Amino acid sequence: MSLLAARLRLARALTILEALLLPPVCGGCGRRGAWLCAECAALVQRDPSARCARCDAPAPEPVSCCRGCAAWPPELLLVRAPFLFEGSVRTALHRVKYRGEHARARDLGRRLAAFAKDELAESLGTVNLVVPIPLHPSRLRQRGFNQSELLAAAVAETLGLPLVSHLVRARPTPPQVGLGREARRRNIAGAFGWSGPALCGQRVLVVDDVVTTGATLGEAARVLTAAGAAGAIGLALAREP
Ligand SMILES: [Zn+2]
Ligand SMILES: [Zn+2]
Repeated sequence: MSLLAARLRLARALTILEALLLPPVCGGCGRRGAWLCAECAALVQRDPSARCARCDAPAPEPVSCCRGCAAWPPELLLVRAPFLFEGSVRTALHRVKYRGEHARARDLGRRLAAFAKDELAESLGTVNLVVPIPLHPSRLRQRGFNQSELLAAAVAETLGLPLVSHLVRARPTPPQVGLGREARRRNIAGAFGWSGPALCGQRVLVVDDVVTTGATLGEAARVLTAAGAAGAIGLALAREP
């Protein structure tokens, strides 16, 4: 059994165990009955204003590219995120990350897949596989799971696409928090490698928990394309407002 398969089997077991022992509570308001109640989800939904078709950032009018994504590598085709990283979604993600709530991660991953089906309907037809943004092995050992992999597993399952974990962290990187756009890009440059077979024209859906400047997804897209992929589409649960 591969390492990924072993991790996913453990994650599934934990999800089932949690579902048996812990009733769902809203990550935002703590109300029972759902992992994220409709009221709390509505508060952090992306607003329906005009946006950039490539990076999804709000814009005065619809544009195909903007200052925020002009410097992205061409391999990163577009990025979408259903929620703003604040309020209930911030709390919910922190509960996944720091309390290891696997059932909550699965719920969030399914929401992410449902959003992708609506928002990326056309582009999804060209996607062959789902790849999570990896953690460095030392961080993975510390935490025991990769929250982006948990989200990606639920996305892949819901969309009926294979989940592949051959994108690896070649070196540990300091957290991106607090860094500006250019510093983030430098921090993440050379951080990833591809350990799998050549991708030979396949298109990849790259899943991360939070997108800020797109530097991490851009670097992942660059490495995937160097491994033969026909570009990457980024999908994150939340966007830093
Ligand atoms: Zn709530
Ligand atoms: Zn843009």
